[in-house]
Amino acid sequence: MRSYLSHLECSYCGATYSADEIHTTCPKCGKVLLARYDLHAARQRLTPEIVRRRPMNMWRWFEIMPVRDPVNVVTLGEGCTPLLPAGRLGEQLGTEQLWIKDEGLNPTGSFKARGLSAAVSKAKELGVKAMAIPSAGNAASALAAYGARAGITVYQFMPQDVPEMMRKESHQYGARAYLVKGLINDAGRLVREGAKRKGWFDVSTLREPYRQEGKKTMGLELAEHFDWTLPDAIIYPTGGGTGIVGMWKAFDELEQLGWIGPKRPKMIVVQAEGCAPIVRAFEAGQRHAELFSDAHTIAPGIRVPVAIGDYLILDAVRQSGGTAITVSDEEIIRDMREMARLAGVFASPEGAATLSAYKKLRAIGFLSPSDKTVLFSCGSAFKNAELITPEPLPMLDPNHPDALERV
Ligand SMILES: *Cc1c(COP(=O)(O)O)cnc(C)c1O
Ligand SMILES: [Zn+2]
Repeated sequence: MRSYLSHLECSYCGATYSADEIHTTCPKCGKVLLARYDLHAARQRLTPEIVRRRPMNMWRWFEIMPVRDPVNVVTLGEGCTPLLPAGRLGEQLGTEQLWIKDEGLNPTGSFKARGLSAAVSKAKELGVKAMAIPSAGNAASALAAYGARAGITVYQFMPQDVPEMMRKESHQYGARAYLVKGLINDAGRLVREGAKRKGWFDVSTLREPYRQEGKKTMGLELAEHFDWTLPDAIIYPTGGGTGIVGMWKAFDELEQLGWIGPKRPKMIVVQAEGCAPIVRAFEAGQRHAELFSDAHTIAPGIRVPVAIGDYLILDAVRQSGGTAITVSDEEIIRDMREMARLAGVFASPEGAATLSAYKKLRAIGFLSPSDKTVLFSCGSAFKNAELITPEPLPMLDPNHPDALERV
C-alpha cells in the first residue's frame, strides 16, 4: 500500500511545494494549498475492488490520501458513515430521491473527525509536536481526540459561548483549551500569532492542506455508494467550506482515475441568515466574500464570518450550477425536530439547515422530486443538547394503583 501523493500546489497562484515538509498557506500569495497525487500512476494500480476489500474507515483510500507510511495513520474508525434514504421524511416531501449522509456517527460526533484524522496523521509523519486550532467546538473536539491518540499537544481556542459538551470533551481528552472573546475568526488571529511566537502548527480550516483530504472522502463515499455515479445535488452547511472544497476535489480525482464521468452534482451552500458571507458573495457575483459583521446563529459550525477558501467554495458552486441560500434559526430548530421525527436522525442544527434549504429549493423549483439529493447531517445533536428543550415529563408512582390512568 503506498500513497501517490506528489506535491502541494497553490490553488490561487499555481506555485508548487514539497509535500514532505511542513506547510500551511502558500508562502507566495497566502492562499490555500492543495495536495496533488500522481493519479496517472495510481490509475494503473488502484481499483474499486481493492478499496472495497479494506477495513471500513476513510483510510481505505490510502493511495489518494496524504500519508506516506501507514504506521503514521491516526485513526479512530472515522468515515464510512451511512447514507440513509430519507424514508418517511421523503414521503412527506413527495420524493423518493432524498438521502441523508449521517456524519454524526463519526468519532467525536461530527465530520470534523475526517479532517482532523488526516491532518493529525500527516502532522505526526512530519514530526509536529504541538498543534493549535480555532474552533466553534467540533474541530476542537476532533483535534483533541486525535492529538491524544498521536501524543501531540493540542491547543484550542473557542468562542466563549461554545456548547458545553465540547468543553467537556477538551477536558477529557486533555487538550489545553481557552475561551476567546469574539468569534472563530478572532480565535483564528490568536492562533496565527501563537503559531509565530510559540511554534505551534496552525490547523485552521484550509490554512493547512490536509484537513480537506480527510473531508474529500465524503465525496468518494457518495460516488461509491451510487455505484460510481454522483447524485444530482448536494446540500452542504458551509462554514469554512472544507467539505465542499474537498468533495469537489474528490470528484476530479475520481474522474482522473477513470472511475466516474464528467457529470457533477449541483453543489449547494446553505448558511444561516445571521451569518451568510458566501451567500452574499454568490448573489453579488463576487469571487471573494467580505467579512460578515455581527455574525449570529444558533448553529455554531456555520457561524464563520470569513473564509480563506471563499473563492474555492464559490468556484465549485458556480461551476456545478449550484446555488447558495440562507435559512433562519427558526427553520433550523423546526427541522432538527423533523429530521428526528420523520427520519430518525438526531441532527445538529447545521445538518437540519440542509433540510430547511431543501424545502426552500423545492418550493422555488430549483430542485425537483426526481433530483437525487444528498443532505449532509454533519454532526450529532448530542453536541448541541442545550438547543433541545423538552417539557418536564410526568412522574409516575408505580406503587399507586392509578399510575397508568395518567398515561
Ligand atoms: C465545521 C462544521 C460545519 C462546516 O463545515 P465546513 O466544511 O468547515 O464548511 C458544519 N456543521 C458542523 C456541525 C460543523 O462542525
Ligand atoms: Zn499561491
